[in-house]
Amino acid sequence: MTIQASYLPLSLRLDQTQALLVGGGQVAAHKVRLLLGRCKTILIWAEALHPELEELVKQGRVIFRQGRVEETELEAVLPQTGLIFAATDDEAVNQLVSHCAHAHHVPVCVVDNPKLSSFITPALVDRSPVQVAITTGGASPVLARRLRQQIEALLPARMGEAASFMQRQREWLKKRLPDMKMRQRVWEAFVDGAAYEAALAGEDNRAKEGLERLVEQAEEGGQARQGEVWLVGAGPGNPDWLTLAALRLMQNADTVLYDNLVAPEILDRVRRDAERVYVGKKKSHHTLPQSEIEAELLRRAQRGERVLRLKGGDPFVFGRGGEEMEGLLAANVPVRVVPGITAANGCAAAAGIPLTHRECAQSCIMVTGHARADGSLNLHWPSLARHGQTVVIYMGLTAIDELTRQLQAHGLPAEWPVAVVYKGSCADQRCVVGSLGTISRDVKDHGLKSPVLIIVGEVVRYRGEVMQAVSALPTAKEADK
Ligand code: SAH
Repeated sequence: MTIQASYLPLSLRLDQTQALLVGGGQVAAHKVRLLLGRCKTILIWAEALHPELEELVKQGRVIFRQGRVEETELEAVLPQTGLIFAATDDEAVNQLVSHCAHAHHVPVCVVDNPKLSSFITPALVDRSPVQVAITTGGASPVLARRLRQQIEALLPARMGEAASFMQRQREWLKKRLPDMKMRQRVWEAFVDGAAYEAALAGEDNRAKEGLERLVEQAEEGGQARQGEVWLVGAGPGNPDWLTLAALRLMQNADTVLYDNLVAPEILDRVRRDAERVYVGKKKSHHTLPQSEIEAELLRRAQRGERVLRLKGGDPFVFGRGGEEMEGLLAANVPVRVVPGITAANGCAAAAGIPLTHRECAQSCIMVTGHARADGSLNLHWPSLARHGQTVVIYMGLTAIDELTRQLQAHGLPAEWPVAVVYKGSCADQRCVVGSLGTISRDVKDHGLKSPVLIIVGEVVRYRGEVMQAVSALPTAKEADK
């Protein structure tokens, strides 16, 4: 009975090791990239070199030995060698390298030839010092790559920096808190909280302060911690269009304050045990007035909660994010801001309408169509009614008659194109196209309701049928399985 090849992923220490690479082509170059900075020396043995490798030889980062590999010479090199890759298309050379390596018990990988190899290389997600190795035991490199793509998207870009920060603090923490259990609890609180976010953002001083505070709390046996508010844009509604940072903070928050622009599919991705607070914001019947929302954010942050203020689109575009930030900073509550895809960008992409176009629109202007109490609009019409410009109007449905009338009164023709996008990027998205002269009627005929985005300008003529872009990330429900 033969045992099927099976593999054990290990982390091999190579800083005192010479690695030997037989072959000098593209594949060899790929392996060298893997080894650079990890080995003491890299010796390349080949008849000719890929330009990338030539450059590395010039820089003195690898050693080059020119010629065909011969057995006796190879035998002489093996005692100083800790790892071998063979990446040649010469079967005899590959066989020879494999044979000698096995005889000397030096780990060897003949690229694309598991039979001749004593190890294979995993697919890597590298956030050094954090690394994720993925192997399917050679069953499916495509599957390994797909998995790698998914994990790549889940790990914050600067996770390595955060890990290095933690490593640098280990000794200090050991002296400060001799009890191992307590240290572990502190680290757990650290990675769950604001201090870790600070480390991820490269703010070491703030991360250190946070860590010190956690230590003090652990000593006092208390739970209190410094609260924070995260002003996060959720984009126009399609969960695939969330940023990775938004997704991560949604997984870390204690409380989420959201309004009606945030779609249920997006809320599904919030940590399950987070408290959800609906603060409304349907036009004219705010569930909580703005001042109350701000007071609520402040109250919760001061209680030590990590509060996620999740907003449709981008928090700083017609989202009152500026006001919320101001109040919190005045009260010394730390605030983090994560942008989202604003409705202008999201609806334009979803409807296939470019916002600028060399032929007809050199600028794009975003305005609010929210009318004052007396129904009038506080807009500077002469700067909106211009050729060569796209005007994007948020919250413009109620005042659409007045909007289209004023734009015409200030010089745009009745045939000037207009698109109205309802729930751009969502499953029930709709788009109605007309002109300044017709669109008020058109939206009524089609029964469009809020939220809609109005796009005015010749770019609408360039509208194309586009398909919805979806990501390869699993949905929240799939991920739970
Ligand atoms: N901060 C948000 C805008 C809030 S104002 C952002 O950056 O997108 C609310 C208005 O945004 C709505 O009245 C509508 O005009 C627009 N809007 C937001 N999401 C939309 C969507 N998915 N489709 C159409 N319009 C949208």
